[in-house]
Amino acid sequence: MSRTIDVEALCAEKGLRITEQRRIIAKVLGESEDHPDVEALHRRASRVDPNISIATVYRTVRLFEEAGILERHEFGDGRSRYEAASDAHHDHLINVETGEVVEFVDEELEELQRRIAERLGYRLVDHRMELYGVAVERDS
Ligand SMILES: [Zn+2]
Repeated sequence: MSRTIDVEALCAEKGLRITEQRRIIAKVLGESEDHPDVEALHRRASRVDPNISIATVYRTVRLFEEAGILERHEFGDGRSRYEAASDAHHDHLINVETGEVVEFVDEELEELQRRIAERLGYRLVDHRMELYGVAVERDS
């Protein structure tokens, strides 16, 4: 939610070998305040190093994802979007008209999910919640 996340430090923690291009991609990811897809990441990384190929970005985000450094989302449009996994837990609301992604946390919802899992005989360890909506005019 609020950034900047030190993705490079996370890589070191997970024992990932860090090359210069990976370092740039890690930095771009750590500074992203949205949920960029590979193309957006490539555009941002290219501004730092024009030699970074989209294939390198693909490989790097996969590597980061496998190491648990990144979380991948697919907000209903079939595109993979990424954010740093160390980010505080939050859920997402997606505007189906604009694709805008709004982050939120709701304690009642968190508690409700824990209770549902408990009722079914589970202890909740993780969840994903995605809401899809259209914006409505609000009278103030
Ligand atoms: Zn998010």
